[in-house]
This record gives sequence, C-alpha cells and structure tokens, in this order.
Amino acid sequence: MSDDRFHRKPWRVNWFEPELEHRKYQKAFREDEDYSEDVSLYFGDLHKHSEISPCAHVGPYNGSLAECYQYAREEAGTDFLAIADHAERMTEEQWDESMAQAREHTDPSSFVAWPAVEWARAIHGHRNIYYRDHDVPLIGSHVVPSPTELWAYLREHAIDALTIPHHSARELSCNLTVTDDELEPAFEIYSGWGNEEYYGAPRQDTDRSFTRGFYVDTLLQGFKMGVVAGGDGHPAKPAITGLTGIYAEDLSLPSLWEALRQRRTIATTGAKIMLDFHINGFPMGSSISYTHEDVPELFPLEIGVAVQGTAAVERVEIIENGQVVHTKTKPRAAGDMFAYRWFLQSGPTDGAKVIHTLHNISRFIYVRVTQVDGNMAWSSPVWLDYVYPA
Ligand SMILES: [Zn+2]
Ligand SMILES: [Zn+2]
Repeated sequence: MSDDRFHRKPWRVNWFEPELEHRKYQKAFREDEDYSEDVSLYFGDLHKHSEISPCAHVGPYNGSLAECYQYAREEAGTDFLAIADHAERMTEEQWDESMAQAREHTDPSSFVAWPAVEWARAIHGHRNIYYRDHDVPLIGSHVVPSPTELWAYLREHAIDALTIPHHSARELSCNLTVTDDELEPAFEIYSGWGNEEYYGAPRQDTDRSFTRGFYVDTLLQGFKMGVVAGGDGHPAKPAITGLTGIYAEDLSLPSLWEALRQRRTIATTGAKIMLDFHINGFPMGSSISYTHEDVPELFPLEIGVAVQGTAAVERVEIIENGQVVHTKTKPRAAGDMFAYRWFLQSGPTDGAKVIHTLHNISRFIYVRVTQVDGNMAWSSPVWLDYVYPA
C-alpha cells in the first residue's frame, strides 16, 4: 500500500524483528515493504527528586544528584533521567549545580541527564518543565504564577521547553481545564502515587478525593496529551515506580525532546515493557484529520500492536474514547509477546447500536497492556479529528 493522506508506511522499531518471530506477528507489519523511518525505544524516569527537594511524605534522604544519576544509569539500566526538583524550594546556586551535574552526567549516545524542574502552585497544581538544553533559567511559580503565564513566558523568551502535569486527581490536583496543545504534549499517567488513567482504574492513586481530573477525562475534553510516567520519587532509587519509553531517532537530548513534543511515548508502571502501536501506519502521537467524504478512504482503520512484556502478558486492550473496544487475551505465541493487527470499522463500537452512517465523531485510540505480575503499560493515542464541512 502506498502512502496517502490516510496511510503511511509504519516506522521500524529497534526491538522488534518480524522475520525472526512467529508468522502471526508478521501480519501486523507488512514485511515486504520498506519503512518510513527507524526509531529506537529509550527508557527513563521523567520525574525524580534529589536531596535538593526535601519532601514531607517520604524518608529522610533523597539521594544526591550524582547518586540519582548513578542509580539510573548503573543499577536501573535506564537511558535517561530527568531530576525535576521543586523550583520554589531551590536557590539559584542549587539550580546552577543541578544543571552543571546534568551536563556532566550526559554522555552522548549512552545516557541523557535531562534538564528539568518542577513548577508548583497550590491553586494551579503541579507541572514539570522539560528543557531542550542545559543552559536554561530556573522557572518556578515565583517567576510565573499560572500555567497560561508560564506558556506565554516560554514563548516570549524563546525557551525550548515542554510542560507535563502530574498527580492530577489527588490532593493538590492539577488544574486541567487549561492546557497548551503545543507546549504541553503529555500527561503523567503513572507515578509513585499511583495510576491516574481513570477513576476506578487498577493501581489507582491512593488519594481518592477526586473522581475527575484523570487522563481519560482530559482526553474527552479534546486535549491532545500523550502519556509519560516517572517515580515522583524522593527516595534514592529512581526507576521503580514509573518509566517513560520514548521512540526517538537517537539517544540525545534534542532527539528525545523532539520525540516527546510529538507524543511518541509510552508509559509503564516501572517494568521495561516494550509496546508499539500504529493506525494505518501512523505512529502513536499522530493526528489524522478527516471529513465525511474521507470515511471510505480512512476506514476501516488498520491497527497494529506489538508488545514485548517483562512477564507473561495477561491482556492487551485497545481503548477508543475511554471505552475498551478490543481485548486480546490468548496469544498463540510466547506469553510475553503479542503482535497483531485489528480492523476497526467506522461506526460506533460499544455494541449498543450500530448506525453505519455515524462517522462524524472525533476519536482518540490508545493501547493498554496488563501483565500477570500486575505491571502495566500504555501507549500515547492516535487522534482522529473529524472536521465539519465549512
Ligand atoms: Zn509535584
Ligand atoms: Zn514531584
């Protein structure tokens, strides 16, 4: 199939070799076709605290900057780490030291110490800022007091930075009535606090004060946010309670940053579960606009999924607009690996009523993996934006 507005060649990922796998797997990937691009999956914790951020919730010692990097690299075997200490509790000297250490611990093509800081204000919640280089200013709510002013500030000063909200559905929840599709590309779906996917989800955030403000709620508002995860961990060991996987061209800060901006991300509960997902060849994070006339060309959607678990995979679910529309539970091949394709027709898929002319809805579709050991992974969605006739 050739590329057109609604189909493209899939990317080739570094961890999946179709020719070596069970024949079933190959169906998800057109092996006689070349690929649009080559990407590699890199794992890291995007939300770590060091001893610069003393925290009331946890133990007495958070680890020094150097110890956090050492753990992430040597013990956890991750590719990047973002230490996002609290801006409001930091001196300019500590910030300079933090950036100096990040520069020092970045080793081209083997480890990236991602410059980041946590912006927080009680009435607006918490958002982390992720910079594209190391020579950047400290920005906290003492500098810019609201998220909208923060995005305006970044634009005004031409600072290449992205923001990501976290623990949106707990005490000090994040104000998610506002976002910025360009500068806020992702949502922290999982951290040491728990799962923020939807109210009642497995491993849900232990704070049950809120029934709204979860990931699915923000997507249903029409916000375009991919997924990330991080420990938000204050104890010294960073890479246990939440990992982000990023599909990037190479292991460098500009490549990781650009891939995060494009929402080419997966999130996990801490295990290095590898997950690939595309619709009509468009990878996670993509948006496809269509009109009523385009329906016969766009549909049925060809959804390709590949998973390499760290334990036996219990199920893989495809979620459309917050509803599970397909579940895969019995792989013929090895239990920790799934690869398949599934076709989604254009009508409603909740089974309640089928109206074949109902195409004019926008959709977000993503994949969730659950292992028998309880670990989970999520892909960022692909968005289908229905455009009304002028
Ligand atoms: Zn926070
Ligand atoms: Zn934090």
